[in-house]
Amino acid sequence: MKGSCSLVVFDMDGVLFDHVSSWKWVHDVMGVDNSHNLSLFKNREIDEAEFIRRDVALWKTVRPDMGIEDVSNAFQNMPVIDGLQETVDSLRYNGIRSVIVSGGIDLAAERIGVGYGFDDYAANTLITNGDGTLAGEGILNVDLSDKGVKMREFMRKYGADKEDTVAIGNSFVDVKMFENAGLSIAFNPLDDEVVEAADAVIESRNISAVLEHILPRRR
Ligand SMILES: [Mg+2]
Repeated sequence: MKGSCSLVVFDMDGVLFDHVSSWKWVHDVMGVDNSHNLSLFKNREIDEAEFIRRDVALWKTVRPDMGIEDVSNAFQNMPVIDGLQETVDSLRYNGIRSVIVSGGIDLAAERIGVGYGFDDYAANTLITNGDGTLAGEGILNVDLSDKGVKMREFMRKYGADKEDTVAIGNSFVDVKMFENAGLSIAFNPLDDEVVEAADAVIESRNISAVLEHILPRRR
């Protein structure tokens, strides 16, 4: 990275949220198994909108009046990666903004984003009926097939060029973010694609391990 870093874009699930997926977290809390729908999605037999519809339908088999409050409550004790507060604080101290771009659920991204002092966050929204029950549809604020779209919106908003921007992710869906970054970090990677696309690979139980790759570029 030639420029001085001013923005770090974090993936959430498996990076900040210490669980493979915020969707799967709710499935686990509800005691349902969505592996069938997941394989349909991976085989491109259903799209993301239909995937969300089926996820909500699955929750409603257990709780027919499943509401947005239930989803929010599911994240009350969500596990986060060690070193999260220290990392965001350290970046801010060095004049660097932190944002989240996630294909997960926005209620989880809000808890982490607001709770730990991120500058911004974007994730996907569950649509509710007037009474707060889940309508079954989602709003895809972050396109999983190209997370670079939302990332570039944040780069424009915060005046960061490619060389000023770091992307951190753990799976192949984050490769599109890496393409927009001056420095890309695969954190506890799940697949070969994200490893091959990354400038640096970090295996750690503590997210502050990314700082040694980012902060020296400020000095
Ligand atoms: Mg992830």
